[in-house]
Amino acid sequence: MEFCYSCGEKIEEIKDKPYHYDECGLNVVLYGITQYACKACGESYASIPNMQKLHRVIGAHICEKRKALLRPEEIKFLRKDLQLRAKELAQTLGVTPQTVSRWENGKKDIGEAHDRLLRSLYMMYASEQAKHMICDGVINVFKELPAKRKKIEQPREIVLNPQEWLGDFCPA
Ligand SMILES: [Zn+2]
Repeated sequence: MEFCYSCGEKIEEIKDKPYHYDECGLNVVLYGITQYACKACGESYASIPNMQKLHRVIGAHICEKRKALLRPEEIKFLRKDLQLRAKELAQTLGVTPQTVSRWENGKKDIGEAHDRLLRSLYMMYASEQAKHMICDGVINVFKELPAKRKKIEQPREIVLNPQEWLGDFCPA
């Protein structure tokens, strides 16, 4: 039995309800997360295990599966998971800090070359952190990116099942 950290009353455990992980800045839906709801005071929260791995899986998902040019919130997510400040990402990619902030506030498209460079950097970083290659077929990721990406419409939602980040680390 769990108790509400806010009011101390018994709290209801909710399993099997998709959790919208809006805190990460993206439209991510997680399955297999235990959520808690307090009837007494209205407090609700979720228990998310393995946050670091989860973020790595989301980042890898963005790099491998999102076909459109990286969106502002995706660029920001990758940058933060790379633990870079905007200024540092700018230096890393050879652009000005103003350019990075325009990408992140949606005033400017990231463009083909920097989109691909940021994805490559992230996948290398994630592999380095995991001490093995975590993205299978990196070259294919790039070969499969369509031309004319500015015209691509895709849903923003990313849906993850628990085995994608709670089991052996293999997001592919
Ligand atoms: Zn409560």
